Parts: sequence; C-alpha cells; structure tokens
Amino acid sequence: MMNNSMNYMKAAKASIDLQALQYNLQRIKQQAPSSKVMAVVKANGYGHGSCQVARYAQDADAFGVARIQEALQLRANGIVKPILLLEGFYSAGDLPVLMTNNIQTVVHCEEQLQALERAQLDTPVSVWLKIDSGMHRLGVRPEQYAEFVERLHRCPNVAKPLRYMSHFGCADELNSPITRQQIELFLSLTDGCKGERSLAASAGLLAWPESQLDWVRPGIILYGVSPFAHQDAQAMGYRPVMTLTAPLIAVREVKVGESIGYGALWTAQRETKIGVIAIGYGDGYPRTAPNGTPVLVNGRIVPMAGRVSMDMLTVDLGPEAQDNVGDEAILWGQDLPVERVAEHIGTVGYELVTKLTSRVEMHYLTGEIG
Ligand SMILES: *Cc1c(COP(=O)(O)O)cnc(C)c1O
Repeated sequence: MMNNSMNYMKAAKASIDLQALQYNLQRIKQQAPSSKVMAVVKANGYGHGSCQVARYAQDADAFGVARIQEALQLRANGIVKPILLLEGFYSAGDLPVLMTNNIQTVVHCEEQLQALERAQLDTPVSVWLKIDSGMHRLGVRPEQYAEFVERLHRCPNVAKPLRYMSHFGCADELNSPITRQQIELFLSLTDGCKGERSLAASAGLLAWPESQLDWVRPGIILYGVSPFAHQDAQAMGYRPVMTLTAPLIAVREVKVGESIGYGALWTAQRETKIGVIAIGYGDGYPRTAPNGTPVLVNGRIVPMAGRVSMDMLTVDLGPEAQDNVGDEAILWGQDLPVERVAEHIGTVGYELVTKLTSRVEMHYLTGEIG
C-alpha cells in the first residue's frame, strides 16, 4: 500500500531549534545572574553542530571545548570570542597554535607546566589552573597548589592574572556531601587570589548556586537536556534544542505468537500493527534500547518492540493504529524528552544526543523562515 507521502519521505533527521538554544542561554543568565557564561560546545556541540551553536549563542562570554581541533574549527568559522581548552593542551607543539589563535588553556599537571616553562612564545597564553577539589580525575592536588601558582606567576609565557577552576564529580546528586566539600576546599584554596574562578557546569549552576562564582560552564542544559536523573530540563524552564525524527517506512500486521526482528526478542501477545521506522544504530540510536523504550508517533507514545537494527527499529503501534507510511516518528526532543528515553536505555541524555552519526541529516531552524 502506497500513499503520496512516500514521495516526500526523508531519512533520519535532527532538527536543531536555535531559538530554543538562545532561550536556554537567557535562562542560564537568569539563574546565574552574576556570572559570565562559558558555553561548552565540545564534541561537536554535544552533537548539535558546534559552529552553528557558537554562532547562535552570541550572548555567551566564551566557549569551552575539549580538543584543540574543536577550537580551531570554531576559529576557522569566524568565532572570535575566547575559547578554552577544558583539559588543556596534550603536547608542547600545541602551544604556538594556542598563542596564534588566541586559545586559552587549562593547566592541570606538571607536564603541561614544564612545557609552558620551556616554550619560546612571542605572546603569553591565558591559563586556567585546574585544581583537583575532590573528583580526582584531573587537576593539581591541594598540596601542589601553591607551587603551581608560584611557577605560573613566574612564567613569562603565562598571561596574568591567572584564572582558577575545578570540576564537580557528584553535582547531580543533591544529597551528596562531596559537592559541599569540593566547594569549601576550592574557595579556601583560592581565597584572596586575584584571578577569576569557575566551578559549576550545568548541574552545579542549577543545584548549587553558591558554586556559580565568576564563570559558569554550562554544556548539557544549554541544549535543553537535564543533567539530573530525577528532573527533566523542561520542568526547570528549558527547551529541548534537538528533535530527532525518522519516517515510518512500513506498517505491518502481526498475529499472536509471531516474533519480530533479530533474536526474536519481542513476541505479539495480540494481533497488532508494527511500525518500522527508518533509524537504527547506524544513525546512532542505541542498539541497547530495550522493548518498551518510548517513541512518539502521531502524538502518542508507542513502545519499542524488538531489537534495534542498523537501519531500522520497530514499534508496536497497536491494533487500531491509523498511522501511515511516511508519517514522522519522534525519537526524542519536542514532546518526548531525551532524558526519558535515556532512562529506559540505561544511559544519560548527554550520550544520546552526542552519538548521532553523520548519516543523520541536520536541519537548523532559526525561526526566521516559516
Ligand atoms: C563538559 C564539561 C562541562 C560542561 O558540563 P555539562 O554537565 O554538560 O554542563 C563543564 N566543565 C568541564 C571541565 C567539562 O569538561
């Protein structure tokens, strides 16, 4: 059975609502009114497209990335605001590149400090000293702090004043005592320092306002996705930026006892209609999504039925379904928060939005055209 909509059918598509992005940035500024905002656009803007995000987040004061290539891509696309490498540079040869392109760096270890001390640079590089306040992933230990500050101050390749940062390990756990301890340690170590300070990413700025300090570093909440397991971003006044859709490419009838797809993981308990949707793990939709994972079809939530394959997934549309080939299913975004999908899959919204593959068509909605 064919209908006209088949003529217009597209494959998986991620629509990026740039007005929602701007709205979220304003909401961040409302919630952290005394802080500058470093918009984190690493990993291709959490899968949303780092250059488009940076261009539309004009009101951000700076951008944060994880790799020097990510910073250079922003510069090549005309982004002139400050950019910080959140983990610093990985080799001494990067230092002239940072200098030439006006890219700031974190310093978290002895190797980076030595590279700075030995370099011959015409212009000093802006440095954020990263302190390990309790996450124990990166950063100088409290007992190393004074020595690092002293050597960085002495180093002619380091611009002054220094800046100071740290990162939370459990800011999304509102009852964890660790965050409070991290805040106290960071504040007491940096007490009296002249430079700006930064502690909070999304969870910190939302749940621990006392951690907002001079700069907040929001990533995930900028994209309208919650950093918390217990609360969707929409409930906190944020709008999802990405909506992931794919068309129904078949609507099929199955009889009681028939099972569907690889591994026969789902068996019909009643006669029903199965929708086949043109998205799979080749597009970045996780293969680990179990039966029951929600998908939105024509305004109603329907459960995943059977294993996700490379190019398709299957849902139980129900016996009375009127859905047609060509109808667009929403995998997450508007009206189906990615947080809820992630919960079913046993992961976080961060991973889902970041992992889409290049096969997904990106559509940027500016709101300027209908
Ligand atoms: C990724 C990252 C952020 C942003 O984290 P979100 O939880 O996405 O807000 C902030 N700071 C550092 C150091 C990061 O690596």
